[in-house]
Amino acid sequence: MKIVKGFWKKGCRILGAVLCLAGLAACGEAAVESGATVESGATGDVQTVETAQSTGDATADAVTDAVANAVTDVATDEITDEGDAVEDAFYFRELTREEIDMITGVSYPAEDEDAQISLEELRYVHILHVDFDGQTREGELICNVRIAQDLTEIFAALYEAEYAIEKVRLIDAYGADDNRSMEDNNSSCFNYRVIAGTDQLSNHGLGLAVDINPLYNPYIRQGGIVEPYNAVDYVDREADFPHKITHEDLCYKLFMEHGFTWGGDWENVKDYQHFEKVE
Ligand SMILES: [Zn+2]
Repeated sequence: MKIVKGFWKKGCRILGAVLCLAGLAACGEAAVESGATVESGATGDVQTVETAQSTGDATADAVTDAVANAVTDVATDEITDEGDAVEDAFYFRELTREEIDMITGVSYPAEDEDAQISLEELRYVHILHVDFDGQTREGELICNVRIAQDLTEIFAALYEAEYAIEKVRLIDAYGADDNRSMEDNNSSCFNYRVIAGTDQLSNHGLGLAVDINPLYNPYIRQGGIVEPYNAVDYVDREADFPHKITHEDLCYKLFMEHGFTWGGDWENVKDYQHFEKVE
């Protein structure tokens, strides 16, 4: 009986993911890339996809084909095969021309030579996550190539554990305004910006830091300033509330396993949403 339950659970999760992908295609926002080359997942469970620089938009046909193939796969043998359709949804690749145009002047400096990180060092990361309603959602991040594999594996493990993350959108959807993103409880990574209250480049500016469920895990600056402003109910870390990152939290444990440090462990300020990997 346990096997049957597991079967249905896995099957439903995969179908949810496929519906999610199909819905995205219908909206014309699919990140399916034509011309992608697949390096087999020799580095781990999560398949890694790196493309040569994309030649352009995924066409509607390519998107339709990709979804049709995914549906076909699920309809045949994939439900019983550890959810390949789900694993395929976790990948990273170089930025497309369209993505470069979209972020330039928003989360990336308009003048390339001014930046301390090049566009070639950035990667687009595609994931699935379970939202606060238990629904499968697509998520997108941009990060430094140095942590792209880490993020792909961490988010895959969080998804497998049905760890709830409300939103994972590119910060450009918020005009690269970190406050707006945090207020909306959006989890994100790359944003070429300084540390709040300073003129020092944040590790988000190098694509080496990630914020998770920031509304429930605020940044408490020196002087007790809380960011985002609407997170005051979540400053008391002894209080009982959902989505709280602690040392017992799966998210914390996964980031630690991958060599990150946590802003909740900092001495002078506390940034409970923040994980970074700076070697
Ligand atoms: Zn952060």
